[in-house]
Amino acid sequence: MSNALDTALGATSASDVIGRDKDPYFGEDNPFEAMMARFDHAARLLALDPGIYRVLRQPEKQVIVSVPIQRDNGEIEVFTGYRVLHNTSRGPAKGGIRFDQRVTLDEVKALAAWMTWKCAVVNIPFGGAKGGVVCDPGTLTLHELERITRRYTACLIEIFGPESDIPAPDVNTNERVMAWIMDTYSMHRRHAVTAVVTGKPVEMGGSLGRREATGRGCMIVTKEALKHLGLPVRGARVAVQGFGNVGSVAARLLEQEGLTVVAVSDVSGAIHNATGIRVDDALAWIREHRYLAGYPGAEPISSDELLTLDVDVLLPAAVENAITRKNAAQIRARVICEGANGPTTPGADEMLAAKGVFVVPDILANAGGVTVSYFEWVQDRAAYFWDEATVNERLTSILQRSFLDVLSVAQRHGVNMRIAAYMLAIERVAAVHRLRGLYA
Ligand code: NAD
Repeated sequence: MSNALDTALGATSASDVIGRDKDPYFGEDNPFEAMMARFDHAARLLALDPGIYRVLRQPEKQVIVSVPIQRDNGEIEVFTGYRVLHNTSRGPAKGGIRFDQRVTLDEVKALAAWMTWKCAVVNIPFGGAKGGVVCDPGTLTLHELERITRRYTACLIEIFGPESDIPAPDVNTNERVMAWIMDTYSMHRRHAVTAVVTGKPVEMGGSLGRREATGRGCMIVTKEALKHLGLPVRGARVAVQGFGNVGSVAARLLEQEGLTVVAVSDVSGAIHNATGIRVDDALAWIREHRYLAGYPGAEPISSDELLTLDVDVLLPAAVENAITRKNAAQIRARVICEGANGPTTPGADEMLAAKGVFVVPDILANAGGVTVSYFEWVQDRAAYFWDEATVNERLTSILQRSFLDVLSVAQRHGVNMRIAAYMLAIERVAAVHRLRGLYA
């Protein structure tokens, strides 16, 4: 490490994350610290200029708003909303909005930075942002949810915009919420502005293929990983944690590519069938019974067992911190494809690397969603819409190229795919900072 960078690390709060006198993974469950641990590691290997390091370690803008709404019973309640823009040097900020009781500014900051790196890894011209409102959607009526969404949007009307900051769905927000944001923004601007959000309904400027894009991206990079390792794609066994948007689409597409899905799980538990679970059958069961539990075509196993099955590919597509120092030693998969954001802690990373597990990191593996969001924004701005085959073809080409870009950094620097992805992303953002210089 260069002395200058060492000083920069000491001068900022990096030492809180990876201080020499502390357990380096003290805060491994904290998403901000987990992200920063990887950022610091990659920055050191790049011998990143200390000035740029200081810039990238802080979000550009953090906005906290009060969101007052009238409940259906006439009472007025005030919710707290956040929007954080981490970095916009490469283009407008891009990132989802979550409605959840557990939303904190720290979490939103981490997720915003994550978006900067994700967009840079796949080389799309966006920076990173994230937003959230601290609320429990389960206790809100549809009208209350709409009022929160519209007021939150109005509070941030100067921040949002196709040229500045483009929200998308995240935890507990969906196409309907995006439609309300687009409508509110458009009413203020006095004309329809479809490109202000992505993840919209197709009828109002959404993109074909957006809903499946993240799962499709997981399928694409999983195949690339198997190919790289010289493992056959057909017949490779897969276990999928989480059977929602990402997990179920990835499972269905992997099955179509000839892999065998031997285990899947949702919040109700996990199921296993060594000869293969028919993904469409399992989805039909969920449509009728809501959860996987009780599915007759497989045996129930514990959620922990799913993660340690003897499979070729493990696809965590549910929650953060699924793979930690507690279970990493028992993982038997050859490839982990991170459909979820942050499913592996930094402590687990080292143990997996020592075992030779090939991890396709989240900022690459689940970047299919933001890539097709970019396509949606491009289509809205051109007012010219592509067919689904074109969307899928362009997504495939971007993800295959990005996989090879990351792999080449990994091989050149002798690092794992996660650190390589961070190095590639940080270098791309830093290059633009160097070219643009510092204004005033
Ligand atoms: P989702 O709500 O559609 O599905 C989540 C699934 O995980 C559900 O099947 C749920 O039952 C299951 N689940 C929840 N807790 C679980 C547990 N402890 N064990 C096993 N299963 C559990 O969500 P999603 O959109 O599929 O997102 C999943 C992950 O992927 C999240 O980390 C999200 O941030 C990330 N991600 C999603 C997108 C996207 O486009 N949807 C893009 C990038 C990243």
